[in-house]
Amino acid sequence: MIIVMANWLKETNQNIQILKEKKYFNDWQKLKTKFIIFYLYPNMTLSPDWIKKRTVIYQKNAKKLNVMPPKINFFIFPNKETGKKIGIIPAIALVSKREIYGHLNQSPGHELTHILLGEVNSPSNLPANGLWSEGICTYFDGTNTDRRKHTNSLGYPKEIFAISWQKWRKNFPDDLYPFAGSIIQYLHDQFGWKSITSFLKELKNSGRNDNESAKQIFKLPLKIINKNWQIWLKDGYSSISGKL
Ligand SMILES: [Zn+2]
Repeated sequence: MIIVMANWLKETNQNIQILKEKKYFNDWQKLKTKFIIFYLYPNMTLSPDWIKKRTVIYQKNAKKLNVMPPKINFFIFPNKETGKKIGIIPAIALVSKREIYGHLNQSPGHELTHILLGEVNSPSNLPANGLWSEGICTYFDGTNTDRRKHTNSLGYPKEIFAISWQKWRKNFPDDLYPFAGSIIQYLHDQFGWKSITSFLKELKNSGRNDNESAKQIFKLPLKIINKNWQIWLKDGYSSISGKL
């Protein structure tokens, strides 16, 4: 699963490079905003509201993460299928290149937040597909979803909860994004937002020091935070269902 994902990213990256060399994107319509240049797939129309949502959340999340939003290129496909036809699965943020390949129905903030996280800490310290990044990007995706409720509603198998978070430092499965978002929501509730940004900044070497940083900043090892988070999730469940 993890190997397949890494290959998928690598292939997409290579395909983008080849298309650029062929000047494939040169005649795409450009829409320039303060920080984002949007590139529209040929003959695609876009509502002003769609653009506005992205530009607003980009600046809003930059403030939350206390970074300057870098200028980026955002290539938009009408849907996943049109991207796949040319070898790009359009749900990707290339952090070091400051580029996004996205489609119309994605959440407004997820991919943009990946770019902002690249300003908080380098992808070699804070991997874009790892648990910590995916958690933040899901939590800040601009849909205002309660991640605790959402995670509870999905009925994940028990075994998932037993897996150490440290296994997911570099690669996090995309069907578990709500789960990652709920971890960030929990940390935010319990320790405040500032501690989370300090934690993200502290991560080194693909987050290999995440346990030590957690002890330093949250005053607890990750194992204990994980247990407390599970209790917090269950509490949310009982208050939603009203059964327990
Ligand atoms: Zn992501």
